[in-house]
Amino acid sequence: MEDNVNTEIRSYWKNYINGEFVDGSGGERITVSNPATNEPIAEVARATPADVDKAVAAARRAFESRELLEMRPHQRGEMMFEISRQLDKLADEIATLECLDNGKTLAAGRGDVALTQRYLSYYGGMADKLEGRQIPLGEGLLDYTVHMPFGVSAQIVPWNGPLPVGARSIACALVTGNTVVLKSPEDSPLSLFAFAEACEKAGVPKGAVNILCGYGYDAGAALAAHEDIDHIVFTGSVETGKSVLRSAAERIIPCVMELGGKSAGIVYADADLEQTAKSAARGIFHHAGQICSAGSRLIVHRSIHDELVARLKAEAEALTVGPGIDGCTMGPLISAKQLDTVEGLCHVGVDEGATLITGGARLPETPGHFMAPTIFTDVRPDMRIAQEEFFGPVVVVIPFDTPEEAIAIANGTDFGLASGVYTRDLTLAHWTADRLIAGQVYVNEWWAGGVETPFGGTKRSGYGREKGQEALLGYVQTKNVGIRL
Ligand code: NAD
Repeated sequence: MEDNVNTEIRSYWKNYINGEFVDGSGGERITVSNPATNEPIAEVARATPADVDKAVAAARRAFESRELLEMRPHQRGEMMFEISRQLDKLADEIATLECLDNGKTLAAGRGDVALTQRYLSYYGGMADKLEGRQIPLGEGLLDYTVHMPFGVSAQIVPWNGPLPVGARSIACALVTGNTVVLKSPEDSPLSLFAFAEACEKAGVPKGAVNILCGYGYDAGAALAAHEDIDHIVFTGSVETGKSVLRSAAERIIPCVMELGGKSAGIVYADADLEQTAKSAARGIFHHAGQICSAGSRLIVHRSIHDELVARLKAEAEALTVGPGIDGCTMGPLISAKQLDTVEGLCHVGVDEGATLITGGARLPETPGHFMAPTIFTDVRPDMRIAQEEFFGPVVVVIPFDTPEEAIAIANGTDFGLASGVYTRDLTLAHWTADRLIAGQVYVNEWWAGGVETPFGGTKRSGYGREKGQEALLGYVQTKNVGIRL
């Protein structure tokens, strides 16, 4: 274990509703386990649909009180800066929580706090910069647009990056004057409750942010279908996304949908192979591949295929797989169920005739949910392992001969979240970026971008954008005011 790491965490966490930390109304608790040991580490109050009702009612009252709207926009921004300052005090605890309930490495846990603070400062700074337009209508008429908040924003977050994914949506909602009810993921809920504490200490108005934890089929479904919400931000799987959209359709509620991916990086023959192997390895093995925008397919020019695969194999085998709290460089999958899914799909790959270069199975003799970093070659684009999302540390390598063929393979799945191009040829990079159907294209570095760059999907990967200035437009609707002077 690294020196100076505090592994003590609180044993019981309550829901945050109407500015107070409360038990679940049914009195039940959800046990949170450490995916690296499969041992229970804490309990969280289980929110039921009755608790969802209370949280939505609190958010509605907070919205209607106009407290947020009566603040000057820059004051809402300063509130984000204050939440960020409060997070400073919780940073070490949150990094430990992310290791213990989520399976992150310590570096990634610390990174998530820093990333969350970047979101808060970015959107805090944007609070007074979301401007409307003045539209010329000629003599005697004045016309302008304003951005109205929707009201109560319901937000549902997945297990893999609860803190930054949740915090960026909360920040966008608050600076635009919406109030929030957020359901944290039942597998890794704890860091968002630390965030709730930061909101409380920062003086966020009572009821403006409500964070609760319950099961998806129960509290999640109740929140998505609640008759008094005005807006949904959902991040999670395609199947759950469809059911959320069905609920939203009943009440014509706008949604930001951030769903799954099967993102491809195209490696041309002139690419810097050392850099490409490192970038591609990070793109799939970071957080054990449990990232929606992971680079899970590599489409490689036939002339460099073998050399790149050898380099990638070396990168995979250099990872130390084990508990993040011990300083290992790749942690576990979130649950036994997820490990079964990922390993099961690897078996499908072998049955389909693909070649396992490394990995392909869980680590033996450990109670944790550890999957070996895995590389498949001899993969055809129509195989299940080339089409379905693993959400684990598994990359499939597919050879190509012409750029047109590479584009067709890259675009040939139901998903369209991220994509990548590795080449020294700028013209080819632009040509390729132009043709890739995806919300983002990374050239020569997987995840090139930041909190400033819009992020979201095309096709079954969803719609709407998080991150960047553009995200704010997903939290407001335009009102036009036309005046005869
Ligand atoms: P999931 O859809 O099972 O769960 C996501 C959230 O939805 C959880 O909080 C869960 O409790 C809740 N939920 C489950 N059933 C629900 C229901 N019927 N109604 C309302 N809410 C419900 O997804 P997951 O398995 O936790 O996360 C992995 C998936 O999320 C992957 O497909 C991944 O690609 C995707 N993801 C996408 C992004 C993105 O930004 N595009 C980011 C992270 C994860």
